Amino acid sequence: MLKVYDAENLLDAQLVHDELRAGGMQAAIKGQYLTGAAGELPPTGVVTVWITAPQHEARARALIEEFEASRRSEPVALYCGSCGEWVEGNFSRCWNCSSWIDPDRG
Ligand SMILES: [Zn+2]
Repeated sequence: MLKVYDAENLLDAQLVHDELRAGGMQAAIKGQYLTGAAGELPPTGVVTVWITAPQHEARARALIEEFEASRRSEPVALYCGSCGEWVEGNFSRCWNCSSWIDPDRG
């Protein structure tokens, strides 16, 4: 077993785990039972993702890098031209003034 990822939380770990499995590697999550005690946020580095075959390390790290890059590139917010509010990228309509947002215009 080889550790390839320190997750921020269990969801994060699960996503990386699924990516690795989709890439044809055997992966496991460790530390998931240590989180969430008494409703407190766990410290980072508690939940980790491991691969069972160390010879897959380079492939696993490349996959994780790609996964993190694609997550960073997601649009965060769009600017509403009507009222000037920032609207989350996954809404196509302004939450404030109900104008339609055109992503191409910004
Ligand atoms: Zn607006």
